[in-house]
Amino acid sequence: MGVVVATATSVAAAAAAVLALAAPPSTAAPSAPGRGPPEEVETSEGVGYGWPLLPPPAVLAPFGAPEDPFGPGHRGVDLAGAVGQPVLAARGGTVAFAGPVAGHGVVSVQHDDGLRTTYEPLVPSVHGGDVVNAGAVLGTLVAGHRGCSSPCLHWGVRRDRLEYLDPLVLIRPPRARLLPVPEPWPDP
Ligand SMILES: [Zn+2]
Repeated sequence: MGVVVATATSVAAAAAAVLALAAPPSTAAPSAPGRGPPEEVETSEGVGYGWPLLPPPAVLAPFGAPEDPFGPGHRGVDLAGAVGQPVLAARGGTVAFAGPVAGHGVVSVQHDDGLRTTYEPLVPSVHGGDVVNAGAVLGTLVAGHRGCSSPCLHWGVRRDRLEYLDPLVLIRPPRARLLPVPEPWPDP
């Protein structure tokens, strides 16, 4: 047991040494005032996202990751909404696409952390290339998403062309302790 702990400690120490050597000066100052723990400053990916429907919607169908990039799965979450309800940009970014796909309207927004969010089905009120702020109206919700018996927004997030993530992770990150999270989680 003692050997295992010593080994783990040595590995951790070695890793820390490597990180210390590799880290640029700006991130090698954990004691800088106003900064959080190291895990919060390593990357901004996934930070600063909000619900695309307000008030916070009920989740009608969860994310179901495909077993392979081309396999079946639910590449997003379905959020309860109302026809005509504004669909909001979950984070600021640049509209990568706004238009019809397979007969229904889709908007995707590229964010500066490398993630891309998609919203469907909706009637877009933005155009490709538009720069939008967080919470900007992207369009209005329409019915018709496959699998929803009542109007819903399918909200997806992907990192690369094929790597889809669970969007709810963006809303409920591990650092939620810093946020005034209501309890229980709102379920209108
Ligand atoms: Zn869906």
